Amino acid sequence: MRVYLGTIGCRLNYSEMERVARDLAGRGHYIVSSPAEADVCVLNTCAVTTTAEAKSRSLVRSTARANPRARLVVTGCYATLAPEVVETLPQVHLVVNNYVKEQLADVLHAWADEFPPTQASDAQHPLIESTRTRAFVKVQDGCHNRCTFCIVTILRGEERSRPLDTVIQEINDWVAEGYREVVLTGVHLGSYGRDLGTDLSTLVRAILQRTQLPRLRLSSLEPWDIAPTFFDLWKESDGRLCPHLHLPLQSGCDATLRRMARRYTAQEYARLVATARERVPGLTITTDVIVGFPGETDIEFQQSLHFVESMEFAHIHVFPYSRRPGTAAARMKAQIPESVKRERSAAMREVDARCGHAVRQRQIGSIRPVLWERAEQETTRTGWLVWSGLTDNYLRVQALVPESVNLRNRITPVRLTRLDGNVLWGEIIHEPDLLHILPDHSRAGSR
Ligand code: SF4
Repeated sequence: MRVYLGTIGCRLNYSEMERVARDLAGRGHYIVSSPAEADVCVLNTCAVTTTAEAKSRSLVRSTARANPRARLVVTGCYATLAPEVVETLPQVHLVVNNYVKEQLADVLHAWADEFPPTQASDAQHPLIESTRTRAFVKVQDGCHNRCTFCIVTILRGEERSRPLDTVIQEINDWVAEGYREVVLTGVHLGSYGRDLGTDLSTLVRAILQRTQLPRLRLSSLEPWDIAPTFFDLWKESDGRLCPHLHLPLQSGCDATLRRMARRYTAQEYARLVATARERVPGLTITTDVIVGFPGETDIEFQQSLHFVESMEFAHIHVFPYSRRPGTAAARMKAQIPESVKRERSAAMREVDARCGHAVRQRQIGSIRPVLWERAEQETTRTGWLVWSGLTDNYLRVQALVPESVNLRNRITPVRLTRLDGNVLWGEIIHEPDLLHILPDHSRAGSR
């Protein structure tokens, strides 16, 4: 059977589809890179905002148009939120909600005899198509918190963790395939292991001790889950635990935080950030901020804006509040007009651009390990490529390199030399097998 896997939404969605791909490939099925080649298309959807819902519907429609013969299976948060709507979309053969998503590969495998056996020509398809250099590994699902704006906690159910040994095994499989970085994902990552009598620190330590993984990255962590001892992990990791934290703030105003049922004040958040920066050298912090939450007055928004600016985040994901069915905030009075949300989003994005630029400017002259991902043709100089990659502290970097050099999936030390807009440029250093190829200015790496 030829299977196409389409995903939108969070890293968790991507890691789930990766595991389905791995499972199906292990049973002899082919994971194809376009719906046009598939017998079955599995689409993992999102419902975190109304925009995400619309994107989920258009993903289904565009996939059906791309292959009128294919059998469509729709799963994920939007399929869980509105199965009756998804069932009416073109060619949808099966709707699988989040609670039974784990059995997806079994369900699909049972259909194998209904499709023509794969041909020798299929052999050209690698079992799993992957142009990526990092793997997302799901370690946990569900959340017991009840942030008043959040629909995820409704659609993903109670907290449940994957056994530590299973996670270690999956990471060793990725390392065996040459992956250099793994991102741990979950709905509420910080609660990992509570249902198993362990915790996230124990998992991270086990990964560092029982795998050869060069780079481990943590995805979103709720501020209230981080104890001061958590920062010891970075000291122990010998540079393998990436110095980057994504700490959703949501608002910088205490009154708004209370209406959101977030479990910290702005000052408590600021203290956590100060401790983190003190304990983790080179740390960058990114965040999520909602603007236009019900009841958010101009004064409250200004408080939030000024607090956010004072935190100097490397990047801010700005979300205009999206009314989600079934959430407490959806029933709140004083819903904010869309026009006001747009104004506030623009103001918050200006702060993001200013702070992001300042954080990157401060990196100039420093040396960071970069995991190189992809190359683009250099337009102004024949025979050169612009390679792009991410530093350990999650900043995008580019370097100019002769096209004879393949940096893909390599981690090299890079001296950051200058900032072009929001993109850092750097020069590759200390790489003996490269230095004899890289002319001086490539050692200088920048245009
Ligand atoms: S902790 Fe995160 S996933 Fe849980 S309810 Fe709050 S925002 Fe949603």
